[in-house]
This record gives sequence, C-alpha cells and structure tokens, in this order.
Amino acid sequence: MTIEIKNLTKIYGTQKALDNVSLTASQGEIVGLLGPNGAGKSTMMKIITCFIPPTQGEVKVCGFDIFEEPMQIRSLIGYLPEQNPLYLDLYVRESLDFIASIHKLKGKEKKQRVEQMIELVGLTKEMNKKIGALSKGYRQRVGLAQAMIHDPKVLILDEPTTGLDPNQLVEIRQIIKQMGRQKTVLLSTHIMQEVEAVCSRAIIINNGQLVADDTVEHLSQGGSLEKKFREITLM
Ligand code: ADP
Ligand code: MG
Repeated sequence: MTIEIKNLTKIYGTQKALDNVSLTASQGEIVGLLGPNGAGKSTMMKIITCFIPPTQGEVKVCGFDIFEEPMQIRSLIGYLPEQNPLYLDLYVRESLDFIASIHKLKGKEKKQRVEQMIELVGLTKEMNKKIGALSKGYRQRVGLAQAMIHDPKVLILDEPTTGLDPNQLVEIRQIIKQMGRQKTVLLSTHIMQEVEAVCSRAIIINNGQLVADDTVEHLSQGGSLEKKFREITLM
C-alpha cells in the first residue's frame, strides 16, 4: 500500500472537517476524490502531504509515518495545491530549475529533468515567458511540472483541472493518466466525466465522512457516477 489512512479525524476549532476516515491506495491507481465543497478533500490532502497535522488517526505514505518521518514523505510526494501558488516573477524554466534545486537535483540531471517536464506538460512554446504572463491553463501545467519534477512515487493533485478550457482539460487528463501507470495518484475534482475518464477508483466524502469507496464501474451502475454522487451526498 502506498497510502494508508486509518481513522483520520481533523477538527479545526469546533469544525469537524474529517470524521474517522480510513482508506488505502496502491501503486498504479488513480483515485478520484469527490465531495461537495467543504467536504474535507483539501484537508485530507494537506494532512497526507504533511502540511497540517491531523487531530486523530494514522497516516502512512510508502510505509513512512506522517508524524515520525515527514521529510521522507515530502520527498516521495508531488503535490499540486488547490490554489497552485507560483512565483509569478520567475520565468517558467527558472521556476522549474528552482524547484528542482529544492529537491536536491543538480547539474546535468537537473537540466534534463527540467527539459523533460517542459516537454511532458506541453510548455515548450511558453518556456521563456514569466509565469505571471501565462494563462490559467499554462499556469496549471507549471504547477503540475513542479509537482512531478523529482519523479515522486505519489501525486496529490487538488482540483488540477479547474478553470481549464476543453482542449487543455483533455491534455492535462492525458498527462495525469500517463503518470498514473507507475505512480499512485490521488486527485480531487468536481467533474464526474474526469473521474470516468482517468480514475480506476472513486472515493466520495461528504461532511468529512467517507461515504463511498469503489471502482468507477461499480459506482456508475444503475445510471451514472453523477447520479450516485447526488444520491449519496444529498442524503
Ligand atoms: P473541500 O476541499 O472538500 O472543499 P476543505 O477541506 O477545504 O473542503 O474544508 C473542509 C471544512 O473545513 C470546511 O467546512 C472548511 O470551511 C473547514 N476548514 C478548512 N480549513 C480550515 C481552517 N484553516 N480553519 C477552519 N476551518 C477550516
Ligand atoms: Mg478543496
């Protein structure tokens, strides 16, 4: 198991954002994390990536515990946060070079990885621009390239395709699908077709509780994934 979550609870003040959630994910899986706004998706991702601690529960990534070995976990994870924070004053290539350095890549290897990522996410034409001059879709590609630059075993993508145009959507989904073959990918989204197109499994959370965890095929039986989602989350 690459990701193991047991009885995870997060309480912010008086707000219970996650309520006793347990799940696992293995290598080669692309798992869709679905849930209405405020369900707890981003909170779960911030805990897995060691940005915030849980209130209760156990989380392991590739066998490492989030409390005991957070630095190992961070080096194994590529994370695209919901807001995709980027240095707008940096040039595309410069920003990737910077992130690669943080991951201790050096010299020829670093240069090669930067070039590979630029090509993989389709940034070749834009690579000499400042990030601040890029459109939303291209900024998402920079975020994705940054998340993948150190060839992480696990990718945590928080709404990676929000705000993209239909052509960009298809391209970014293809990249994620291609990546998912060797990695473990957890991706949150509001787009059911995206889950149907890229994910093998879907997890639905509602009010902090896990309400479904099954193959997309099973969840779509008796109509569609969207129908199932509405049934479960409107209860
Ligand atoms: P999602 O990503 O599914 O939309 P979030 O994980 O962002 O949900 O939020 C889950 C719940 O926790 C929401 O009700 C949200 O308002 C609350 N929440 C998130 N972050 C904080 C915080 N830092 N302080 C207080 N409440 C928070
Ligand atoms: Mg969120």
